[in-house]
Amino acid sequence: MTIRRILETLAQHDYRLTWQRWAVAAGVVLNQDRLLTAEELYSLLKKDYPDIGLATVYRTLDLLVELGLVDRVQVGDGPTKYGLRNTNVEIRQHLVCESCGDVAPLDSKELEPLCKHLAHASGYQISEVEIRVTGICPRCKAAASAPAGPSRGEENGGRERTARPGDRRQQAGASS
Ligand SMILES: [Zn+2]
Repeated sequence: MTIRRILETLAQHDYRLTWQRWAVAAGVVLNQDRLLTAEELYSLLKKDYPDIGLATVYRTLDLLVELGLVDRVQVGDGPTKYGLRNTNVEIRQHLVCESCGDVAPLDSKELEPLCKHLAHASGYQISEVEIRVTGICPRCKAAASAPAGPSRGEENGGRERTARPGDRRQQAGASS
């Protein structure tokens, strides 16, 4: 992603090229190998553009996120950071069954910011992030536990009939 691409995208969406937008775009491009909080970018920009305001930096970053030019990344309870979107980075997440070899896509919205954070933090020019989670798929799990099924079911059923914890929980949930 280049500054030219950002300027072209702004123009395509009829956004005027103000000096503030130019400054934020340039700041993000110049720091594209890392993630910055809005405050960090603001202090960097302040040196060259003393008149820029923090609210403007926030607003402009939000606009660039909306236009798909910048990623907003938050890992856990950490601060919200921004980084130039590298459209060449492919994030692949798979679930792999150790038993039958089945491969399923893992659509975790939580992993995506982490991948982006790691990509920026590594100093590498990342082309691909691959997350491979291995385990036993639901089908294999069901097949493995099937023979023991009936006796276990009876045990659970018997216990539930005396204690009825499920019923009480359901009633509480329905009344709230
Ligand atoms: Zn399996």
